[in-house]
Amino acid sequence: MAQAQKITPRAKDYSEWYNDVIMQAELADYSSVRGCMVIRPNGYRIWELMQRALDDMFKETGHQNAYFPLFIPMSFLAKEAEHVEGFAKEVALVTHTRLKATGKTGAGAVMVDPASALEEPLVVRPTSETIIYASFAKWIQSYRDLPLLLNQWCNIVRMELRTRLFLRTTEFLWQEGHTAHADEADAEREARLILSIYRRFAEEWLAVPVLTGVKTDSEKFAGALHTYAIEALMQDRKALQCGTSHHLGQNFARAFNVQYQTAAGGLEYVWSTSWGVSTRLIGGLIMTHSDDNGLVCPPRLAPVQVVLVPIWKTDAERAQVLEVGARVEAELKAAGLRVVLDARDSLKPGAKYFEWEARGVPLRFEIGPRDVAAGQAMSARRGGGKSPVPLAGIGATASRALEEIQAALFTAARERREAASVRGITKERFIEFMQDQGGFAYGGFCGSGECEAAIKDMTGATVRVLPDPEFRSPEAPRTCMWCGKPSVAEAVWAQAY
Ligand SMILES: [Zn+2]
Repeated sequence: MAQAQKITPRAKDYSEWYNDVIMQAELADYSSVRGCMVIRPNGYRIWELMQRALDDMFKETGHQNAYFPLFIPMSFLAKEAEHVEGFAKEVALVTHTRLKATGKTGAGAVMVDPASALEEPLVVRPTSETIIYASFAKWIQSYRDLPLLLNQWCNIVRMELRTRLFLRTTEFLWQEGHTAHADEADAEREARLILSIYRRFAEEWLAVPVLTGVKTDSEKFAGALHTYAIEALMQDRKALQCGTSHHLGQNFARAFNVQYQTAAGGLEYVWSTSWGVSTRLIGGLIMTHSDDNGLVCPPRLAPVQVVLVPIWKTDAERAQVLEVGARVEAELKAAGLRVVLDARDSLKPGAKYFEWEARGVPLRFEIGPRDVAAGQAMSARRGGGKSPVPLAGIGATASRALEEIQAALFTAARERREAASVRGITKERFIEFMQDQGGFAYGGFCGSGECEAAIKDMTGATVRVLPDPEFRSPEAPRTCMWCGKPSVAEAVWAQAY
């Protein structure tokens, strides 16, 4: 029990629970730089698996990876007015290029060399639209160069005041797609295509159900025409924005003079999109599925999918169970699974169980002398359920079990979300709901920024999305749930991370 007791129960303190899960699973650690985290191998492996799945989907739909500089000339950020407004308050700047020795010792041994001041400071990228459009302007000449569909995997720096592991850190990892198109319809199609990829990834890999829809003007990306998003609900009934896809219109093309010659010989500005998901998704995965025993990781993204724990008392038994364990390990690997045979002498089986549970391994096979004699292993699922399985065909059995676990996690998360959603909400009920437990509240919305601001002020809730038709209530609301004026769209509100 030693391991499990180190994790604060969710009911006691959700935020401490979240940190404990991360620490116990060794996903990440705090660093000596304020607001920055260290992603440990277990966490980074999840990110690698996410990257691979997403990258495959991007490439299947015609996107290519490229890499642009970490630094952006400060003047670039000023070229798109809304964009600079959106990011000005959270950028890190490089202003000098040299230090010099002072002759003192200790912390004062070096100082900034004032002679090395840069003529134009460099911004450490908070997002890369501006630096990328400078290149687009060079590369795009004719309609034949379009569409241009690029993505980059990189790090981003936004000077955040309040940070939380994975969810909000000063530096984080992400992918950012940037595309240029000949017309509005093609850019719109792209922004929608990416939203559907993000949704598929969230649901099929993360096992996180998401709402899709469009952001209100106050929540959209700085410089976008409109922003689409996928939104999930965590176990504490707070929303997490999991990915965004922006239709940028011609705003950045005008700011950076990205023009192309049309087939008819005229000159037009390109239409563009940008879109991204980040290591924040790891936080979403943790908060959606994990329990008081630690991480619960959906099998498709689990660094270790199956752990084999041999059980023995005597040396003869040890030799026997390890031999069978090695055979099972080989068979599972042959079935394409990520598997570990935990043959450590230093830990008792029970201690191993707790350790691997805290790390979120979906499936465990225990192999003892009696199991070997019976030609079976004892299968234990991370979410509960223990039963013997025959050693014959164990690769196929394990693959099937992992698929079932993956599907069950998604179903459970969707049921939790629906149980935490209310539709057709009234103002009185809304205030009560947000003060009480919170969750997704569906209601009529007049579309005014004043209502949004008043609601945020009073309840802390924001419009997460104006949901796509699939998620809307059967009957469209007639009036704004807050002010009573005619409703222009159904909205989903929640308190959010
Ligand atoms: Zn209103």
